Amino acid sequence: MRSLWIAACAAVTLAGCAKEAPSGRGAAEGPNLLLVSLDTVRADALGTFGNPRALTPHLDRLARSGVTFSNAIAQAASTLPSHRSMFRSRVASRSTGDEPMLAEILRGAGWHTVAFTGGGNLSGELGFAVGFDQWEEADGGFDWALPRFAAWLDAREPGPFFAFLHTYDAHLPYDPPPPWAQRLDPDYQGWVTGAETRPLCRTLRELPVEEEWSGRTDLSARDRAHVRALYDAGVAALDSNVARLVRDLESRGLFDDLVIAVMSDHGEEFWDHGSVIHSHTVYQELVHVPLIVVSPEDRGHGVRGGVVRNLDIAPTLLDAAGLDAAPSHEGTSLRGVLRGAADRNRPAVSEMRQAKSLIDWPWKLIARREGGELYHLADDPGERRNLARELEPLAVRLGVALGDAVASGDVRELSGEDMSPELIERLKALGYLE
Ligand SMILES: [Zn+2]
Repeated sequence: MRSLWIAACAAVTLAGCAKEAPSGRGAAEGPNLLLVSLDTVRADALGTFGNPRALTPHLDRLARSGVTFSNAIAQAASTLPSHRSMFRSRVASRSTGDEPMLAEILRGAGWHTVAFTGGGNLSGELGFAVGFDQWEEADGGFDWALPRFAAWLDAREPGPFFAFLHTYDAHLPYDPPPPWAQRLDPDYQGWVTGAETRPLCRTLRELPVEEEWSGRTDLSARDRAHVRALYDAGVAALDSNVARLVRDLESRGLFDDLVIAVMSDHGEEFWDHGSVIHSHTVYQELVHVPLIVVSPEDRGHGVRGGVVRNLDIAPTLLDAAGLDAAPSHEGTSLRGVLRGAADRNRPAVSEMRQAKSLIDWPWKLIARREGGELYHLADDPGERRNLARELEPLAVRLGVALGDAVASGDVRELSGEDMSPELIERLKALGYLE
């Protein structure tokens, strides 16, 4: 870990990304930047992305005040590789670990950098704290993170800041606090409870379960609908915390000049392709994610439907700050689109385990050891009709392009780096370690 840290610090020094060399910490001039990661939120959980339950009025309002990217793609279907890819703006399998992280570049240019996260696979121990003046993590969701962020804002020194807020509030178990669970699906009379969703879904995925529970997995269609309703209720609870965050920023007079990006690292499956949770495929339910960008110069440009990538977030925030992207970045800034330029479809790669996919709109190729799948996403957004045999020359061409865009290694949740007992316990609680 230590050698990685030193290598990363050296890399950012070499990157020399600031257009104007800062004369000291906090001496930079530029906007405050806020990156909000809503872990495990699939795009269609938000009202602004078509959820008919209208559960996210505050996120939807935030989306209306900026730009909603309705076709944003995550580069991996689980927390660690997806966030790492985003912070480094590198396709997950192509990252060497030496590329500078977003916070490193901003700190090097004079921004104060702070993060409040849910830890686990986004633990500072796994390299995510690099570049942050202050990195705090705990298993408390936004109820824990937002007051700490507010206290940090109260005490901060002059100069622009980059803040990263992350929460597992929507993550399994789908057991949101009252009144959210009761408000949705109040007529349900079945046996599935919020607390039970964790052992239930892990058993359905054939993952080990530590806690005592009934062991029932005979879900009816009604039970399945209730599981999804419980997840949606968690997203609704999360939305109420986003409202708290925005209100606090407004009350401080910070909101109007702030550049905000709200994203998710991956979605969540609810039997879309016969399974549940995440980390196992690269189908759209796991890689199509929300992306909302709000900035003072770009308000009101509405919904943009071109394919964009989480890779583009770091170059976009740097561009908004007046800084160059790093030479290692594979994403490109969305600022032109934010300011009203025509958007375009960008080729978007996703990876998970040995599955890799390329979206070259409207086509999506998925390559796995067992074979290839080809879908026309505009006509078949649910990826039901595999056209790989029917359109073999196209599948082969896209396969070559995919091969050029990724490295051959499998992309996994954990990379085998040394972990403390505390981190191992947290990863067990989240369900990633036995
Ligand atoms: Zn995640």
